[in-house]
Amino acid sequence: MYSYNNSATYFSEHEVYPCPICRYGEISPLSLMDAMACNSCRHIFTTEIEKQQIKMADRQPPLIWRWNGRRWTEAHLEGVELGWAYWVGAIAFVIFPTTLLGLTAYVRPPVSGSLLSWLPTVWTGLAFLLHLGIVLWLVIEFYEFPVQAYLSARRQQIFGR
Ligand SMILES: [Zn+2]
Repeated sequence: MYSYNNSATYFSEHEVYPCPICRYGEISPLSLMDAMACNSCRHIFTTEIEKQQIKMADRQPPLIWRWNGRRWTEAHLEGVELGWAYWVGAIAFVIFPTTLLGLTAYVRPPVSGSLLSWLPTVWTGLAFLLHLGIVLWLVIEFYEFPVQAYLSARRQQIFGR
């Protein structure tokens, strides 16, 4: 049983670790292979001890988790790093059109009481939700597999194996 103690540990292929996908099962070494398998969701990971990481190989490009001594870091695609510039871009993508529409409605307000006076407010809200939705959708697409695997592992736990 893997115990969550406070001392950092070196990742070794002879120990048992929490599963980074379902976060419920434990991954333990497969004999005679540089691989580990989860006892709950049954996913198999190849190990790279020298890099302190495991790789989920049944997907292209593979997903990688790095052991930081206490837990697995966020999954990332091999060769792809989601740097801060992406997040700044994503936030700007949501904020900028919303602000622009809101400012326009504020600077040139519609005649109050007219038939479509509600439109700029609703339009601004819709723009915000739509752009936020696109960003969320992209993030989920990027991490698609862990989300699906996590949910199916949870379903298995709830509805029996
Ligand atoms: Zn698992």
